[in-house]
Amino acid sequence: MAMTRAYYFGAGPAMLPAAVLSEVQQELPDYQGSGISIMEMGHRTAGFEAIAAQAEADLRELMAIPAEYAVLFLHGGAALQFAMVPLNLLGNQQAVNYVNTGHWSARAIREAGRFAHVHIAADGGASGYTTIPPVTQWRMDMTGAYLHYTVNETIGGVEFHWVPAVQGMPLVADMTSMILSRPVDVRRHGLIYAAAQKNLGIAGLAVVIVQNELLKETPRSAPSMLDYRAHVEARSMLNTPPVFAWYVASKVLAWLKNSGGVTVMAERNRRKAAMLYELLDGSGFYINRVEKSSRSWMNVPFTLRDPSLDTLFLQQAAATGLTGLAGHRSTGGMRASLYNAMPETGVGTLVEFMREFERTRG
Ligand code: PMP
Repeated sequence: MAMTRAYYFGAGPAMLPAAVLSEVQQELPDYQGSGISIMEMGHRTAGFEAIAAQAEADLRELMAIPAEYAVLFLHGGAALQFAMVPLNLLGNQQAVNYVNTGHWSARAIREAGRFAHVHIAADGGASGYTTIPPVTQWRMDMTGAYLHYTVNETIGGVEFHWVPAVQGMPLVADMTSMILSRPVDVRRHGLIYAAAQKNLGIAGLAVVIVQNELLKETPRSAPSMLDYRAHVEARSMLNTPPVFAWYVASKVLAWLKNSGGVTVMAERNRRKAAMLYELLDGSGFYINRVEKSSRSWMNVPFTLRDPSLDTLFLQQAAATGLTGLAGHRSTGGMRASLYNAMPETGVGTLVEFMREFERTRG
């Protein structure tokens, strides 16, 4: 079957590598001679166990995850982690520290507030969340159980290009929209979580990487499905796991390894982002307000100086095979998501289209 593939810039669920899609398509009716699809296969069969083990091994290799960290593949997306993190890591403490850099930090903060006193260590509000507050201005509650930050704000397009140095408490990171886009030092984190539907495959799955020594007694009233230790003991098969999403993740991870891993991805992602920011900065027609050192490599929000051209912009982009460019419903404007699966030619085509649109309409 010939595929007509768009360059899809949506923020998530997001574009998958074409090679992954064709493999999934080929294997779908008959997974490796089993006579059934992977969607029909029992999760405790040797066939699925092999996929699960390979996915974990590949993720460990790609991210250089040390042995003293557990890796979990869980249901519930990243939003469930907003709750599981405080529920499991609070222990005997009362407070937790959060850095607020925009929409997704705020969501995590709101959820943590159901379990703990949330101390805001820093807040980007003064800049309209267009920059990460300088670390010299951070104020921590040293009794806090951990410090949480959102490495990449998917809507605001603000990204940490450095790891906050924290002493005396574990660092927790929401890496949903940047995991595997560049190397990160896992050792500097106590817990990392990410939903899969951007750089790891499809929705319905979240990955959690957690230092074993942080795993504590979860409150007795907590459902066992929300207990990290129960998931660790059951090797993420406490109940029927999201097998198809886990399988797609295994394909994406294998693709990443074949493509050279995160160092190669980082180079490519840096070039992709640079191409687009260069165009935005050189133009009076398009605007991106994010401060340069905090700009995301993954999600580039921008507006047209004349918003009455938005609809025409989106229509003509779609006619060129460039889709998913409408901004988040809360912000309007545009957003180009440049995850690993977006090829450089896709960004090249977008930049060319935007130049031409500015030339004819500007
Ligand atoms: N954190 C970030 C940074 C996100 O971008 C998203 C989803 N866009 C989430 C959390 C929530 O993920 P999910 O919808 O899988 O719960």
